[in-house]
This record gives sequence, structure tokens and C-alpha cells, in this order.
Amino acid sequence: MCRFRPKTLFEEIRASIINNDEEDRSFWRPVLPWGGVFTIKAGRKAISCIPLYVEVQLKNTCTIDGFLMILYVILRDNQGFHRELAVFLGKQFVEHFLYLMDSCDYTTVKMLWIWNKMSKRQYRSEIHQAALEIDLFGNEHENFTENLENLMSTAQESSCSSCDCPGRFQNIRKTTINISPPHELPHKDPIQSAVDQFFRPKLLLCSELGCDGIREFSQRVFCHGPPPFVILNMQQWRSEDLSYVPYHLALCQHRYLLEGATLFNKEEHHYSAAFQIDGCWMHYDGLRSDNLILLNKPPELLLLSSLVYIRASDK
Ligand SMILES: [Zn+2]
Ligand SMILES: [Zn+2]
Repeated sequence: MCRFRPKTLFEEIRASIINNDEEDRSFWRPVLPWGGVFTIKAGRKAISCIPLYVEVQLKNTCTIDGFLMILYVILRDNQGFHRELAVFLGKQFVEHFLYLMDSCDYTTVKMLWIWNKMSKRQYRSEIHQAALEIDLFGNEHENFTENLENLMSTAQESSCSSCDCPGRFQNIRKTTINISPPHELPHKDPIQSAVDQFFRPKLLLCSELGCDGIREFSQRVFCHGPPPFVILNMQQWRSEDLSYVPYHLALCQHRYLLEGATLFNKEEHHYSAAFQIDGCWMHYDGLRSDNLILLNKPPELLLLSSLVYIRASDK
């Protein structure tokens, strides 16, 4: 019998969704397992000097793993996004990232992210004997979302009504989208309202020191056009605010569709992720031995850390 081997990891996962068996809904092999050991291949020259360390041990990688999985699915499922994302993340990074994921070289994928995108202050590292330990314990917004360069950059101009204001005209840029739940409840669609609130023009009391003017904010706009995907930081939302998570979202006059979410378990301080492929939801948790599972219904998104939406095509 000839066994057909699909080309990419994505195609393999997609095939497993179609051929899924009711008894065992997990993908046949783990993807992006928690942690990892990266061995440094020392060349001839390196042997003559004593190496400082020969392997890198990764810990608490769940602060990047779920997002790396979602990023991979987004890129493989939307060929058109490659070029767009390459503008922000670098062509070489995007190509190398896809190649490593498809080669199931998961520790190297994590190293690529850590060494390419994270800054040294974002993780702890220590040398134990001949190993460098990198501990990513912390917050996934800092470890992943804030390192997406200018992908989600937005700008909002503002001016103060008082001539004596120490900072009368301002242009404030943000590289992430952190939304807070609306104060007045109930709301039919609180997430859409919160996103609208983030972008809409508004009047607020000026917060400059000693100023009692009124500050007028313009409409917030994306600095580089509507990005291929957006991550909404949902840290401020409690489960009771999340009874309704919209599948469609209007963002700055563009339509976005729900792609996935990252979930946070407070007691274990651990992140996992959910995402959909062809309308079927999957749950990824790097700590589980069968770490990718096909869900039989959409997950309950009550312990949200982030929501990920992709831009709908203009058809
Ligand atoms: Zn002012
Ligand atoms: Zn964890």
C-alpha cells in the first residue's frame, strides 16, 4: 500500500479533521510540546575553545506556544497573508517559521521566536553547567503580542481646549489592542462595543498635570492599513462579561472573523489555545501528551486571555 504523505503539517491536521474517529479525537502526534531542549551543534572550531553551553533548555513556553500555533494556522490557511506579514515580521522569519513548523522542529521554532522577536529583558536565562536555561514564565501579551512589531499599530491624535496645556497636541501610537469591558451593562455585543470605543473619537477631561481643559480625540486609525489579523487583549474581562463572543467583528470599517483564542488558567498560571480550521474547533495545550484535540463543539471562551480575528476577504 502506498502511503500518501501530505506536504505540510497544516494539511496533515486538516486531513485528520476529515478522517477523525469518534473514539479518539486527538491529532496523532504532539505539536509544539511545552518546553524543549535545543542542542547547539558545535563545529570543529568550537571544540578547541571550551563552549559556555551546548544546549538550551526551555521552560514555561506556554506564553508563546499557543500563539505560535495560531500564527502557523493563519499563515497556512491564508496564502495571501504571507507577503503582508513579511512586511512586519521579515520575509526570512516568515519562511523559516513555516519551514520549521512543517519540519516539526518545534524547539527551533521557539528559539527562532525568542532570539528573533523577543528582547532579553522579556525572559530569564541562567547557565546551569553546560546548559543555558531560558524561562518564559510570565505574560503572553508581553512575550508574544507586543513583539509583533507594527502589525497592529494604531494612531490617535488629540488636542486640548486649554491654551496653557503642557501637551496640547498629541499623537499617541499603540502597538496592541487592549480593550476593557463596557461600564454599562447589559450590552448586546460588549466586545464589539469595546472595540468601537477603542477606535471612536471622544472628548475626555485632559489628564496633563495641572490642566483642566477638555481633550478631543480623533478617530483612531491603523498606521499601516487594516492588518491581516488582530489580537484583542482580553485580560481585563471576567467570565461574566463574556457570555457572548462575536464571530464577526467590524474594525475600523473592515470585517474580521473569529479565528481563535488563547485561554488562561489562573490557578496553574498556564496558557492554552483554541482555533478553527474549516469551521471545526481544535484545542491545543502543550502540557497534555495528546496536545491537539478536535472539539465536537465550539469551546466555551470564558477564561480568555486573547481573541484572534482575521481580516475577511473583500468578496
Ligand atoms: Zn490639557
Ligand atoms: Zn504553562
